[in-house]
Amino acid sequence: MDAHTQQALAARLQYYRDLGIYDFYRRDVPAAAIEAPSVATECSPARSAGSVTREDVVPSGTAEIPKPEFSVTDRAAALRLINEDLGECTRCVLSRLGRKTIVFGEGNPDADLMFVGEGPGADEDEQGRPFVGRAGQLLNKMIEAMGLKREQVYIANVVKCRPPGNRTPEREEIETCSPFLLRQIAVIQPKAIVALGAVSARCLLGLNEPMARLRGRWFDFRGTRLAVTYHPAFLLRDPRQKKETWKDLQMVMEYLGLKVRRGVE
Ligand code: URA
Repeated sequence: MDAHTQQALAARLQYYRDLGIYDFYRRDVPAAAIEAPSVATECSPARSAGSVTREDVVPSGTAEIPKPEFSVTDRAAALRLINEDLGECTRCVLSRLGRKTIVFGEGNPDADLMFVGEGPGADEDEQGRPFVGRAGQLLNKMIEAMGLKREQVYIANVVKCRPPGNRTPEREEIETCSPFLLRQIAVIQPKAIVALGAVSARCLLGLNEPMARLRGRWFDFRGTRLAVTYHPAFLLRDPRQKKETWKDLQMVMEYLGLKVRRGVE
């Protein structure tokens, strides 16, 4: 095992220790599974915390299929290339279940902070923009309460097409779509990511934990700090949890060196 892989593995083991997982079993990974070019970068919500997959042992960027965005250094251009690659996507059933518009994501390509939601709702599907409905208005308030403008951050979702009736995206839909999100994150390289809600958190972290165990702390997402907080749509249903959300956001603000201004109303 080369030094880089050893380091990545050691970091991953430490991460599991931090989560209170101490017992590990060695499983032989066939060389072909590691070396073959792969796009196995999708979120894996059902991945068990104890298993080590290719993406855990192979440093990101190793032996990946070349992506068009690697050819440019300008982040905005790189995001455009990812969007072009996405095209009028028909890779999963969501494209055939009433989707009007693909919601790629929007914001500052050089953002320090990125928010990741679950998937577009009806308003987003109409407008082709993330978080523009009622939940979006609350997200805007959260962003402003952090002392930021919406244009300064980047906002995207785990799936880019509206699930019918706003149902939770299914595993296959997430696995098909999330590689595009991961490519967006890789291009933007934010200092911090805020996962909005359990679907986003579980997708990005591969942990099937309840919100209570996910929020209020930092995770490492491929070298980037990731915090989890409640989804704004949930806060609209249960405004009492805004206090807890504000604590999560303050943790993020502190890390980003932002001055605490006022609470979320
Ligand atoms: N909810 C989400 O998760 N994403 C959106 O873009 C809008 C609502």
